[in-house]
Amino acid sequence: MGIELRTADLIAVREQLGREPTTRFSVVCRCGPGHPLVIRNAPLDANGEPFPTTYWLTCPIAVRAVSRLESGGWIAKLNERIHDDEAFDEGVEAAHRAYADDRAAELPDARGWGGVGGTRTGVKCLHAHYAYHLAGGEDPVGAWVASRLEPLHSERLGGRVAAIDQGTNSIRLLVVAPGPGPRDVPAELARDMVITRLGQGVDRTGRIDPQAFSRTVAVLARYCRRARALGAGRIRVAATSAVRDAENRDEFAAAVREHADSDLEVITGEREAGLSFLGGTLGLETMSSSGVEPPYLVLDIGGGSTELVVGARARRADRAISTPMGSVRLTERLVTGDPPTPEDLAALEREAGHIIEGAVRGAPALADARTLVSVAGTATTLQAIALELERYDPDRIHRTWLALDEAERILVELARMTNEERAALPVMAPGRGDVIVAGAVILVTVMRRFGFARTLVSETDILDGLVFEMLGIG
Ligand SMILES: [Zn+2]
Repeated sequence: MGIELRTADLIAVREQLGREPTTRFSVVCRCGPGHPLVIRNAPLDANGEPFPTTYWLTCPIAVRAVSRLESGGWIAKLNERIHDDEAFDEGVEAAHRAYADDRAAELPDARGWGGVGGTRTGVKCLHAHYAYHLAGGEDPVGAWVASRLEPLHSERLGGRVAAIDQGTNSIRLLVVAPGPGPRDVPAELARDMVITRLGQGVDRTGRIDPQAFSRTVAVLARYCRRARALGAGRIRVAATSAVRDAENRDEFAAAVREHADSDLEVITGEREAGLSFLGGTLGLETMSSSGVEPPYLVLDIGGGSTELVVGARARRADRAISTPMGSVRLTERLVTGDPPTPEDLAALEREAGHIIEGAVRGAPALADARTLVSVAGTATTLQAIALELERYDPDRIHRTWLALDEAERILVELARMTNEERAALPVMAPGRGDVIVAGAVILVTVMRRFGFARTLVSETDILDGLVFEMLGIG
């Protein structure tokens, strides 16, 4: 389950449920007006008791609409259909199995607690099926509920779009509804990230590893179902470094065509940089009173590559450099110990410094920037640690300053920990703990080289850039 939770969502869910939530949860998707629609609960509640309802419908309007179906006798009718219609029966049983697997991914013992909403067979609770459908589950009962109820709010459904950013380390989803005006920032309906390490070993073998491939495609398929369940008419899938460099990228392109019904965009490092710049700088002009002055340098530290992009105005990149240096790639190449040895750290710093010097030679304009904007997981996670957050709250992180001495201090702390200790930090996304030291070295080296005493940390990045482009913003 996601580790991310905004304080505003915690308050909203408390109000929607009319009580304190009893389990840890993350928000899976939202209604057009912005409130949580489905949350994902941890398998154990605060007292350590089993909590089989993994996906929970929280929007009161949705809950009431589903309750009306239930009181109209639809549970009995759907169970009759299961009895009469073999394909429907198989579909419902498959949904129960997949739901149990999904819960078990977090806690293996939880597989035995039943399927959708804890149901072992047949249909018991339409709310649970509908929530699972909205989360991207393949659930014929949930899909049927959706066809009866939607739209839930009297809102415009047109123009909704989704983007998926396939990086080296993670696969991310953003589903949005257009804002009221053509240049307005769109409303977020879902945002998600899973670390599947598609790029694992690509640097060494030149090919995508079969296990990493199937892990990733399973997430891709779920994301596409979720995007469609939320009304996205178009799903754009962009892949960066790892896929770009893999010989067998056609296999991934075929999976994208199947699930997203669109052609995979394998984007060049320069395009990637331009999109990061668009996503990272939209609206920055309004922040000059906080010392955010152009030109802006956007630093996007990925798993397989790092982009450095400079522009004199928000949205429009003037010069971009993509470097073959990323947190996963450097870790695989240079880290030999756990925790990393002093020699490993020295090698990381040397390599990062060397690659950055090459970038500056290729684009001297990089050195003219007055504001450093750091996007993506390395920087946002370091900031979450610097702010001593007990849970990852993007609202607390977005567009706040991280000082160089703080970043250096945290790098030293992280480098002293083992992979296991780093992974156990409450703000660390699963799968990031063992590569964040290399990512932090890249960040600190860039700050030192360009003389930045602080960096603005941004939650918006290439993923936002992809949807802004789809909506004609920027
Ligand atoms: Zn709602």
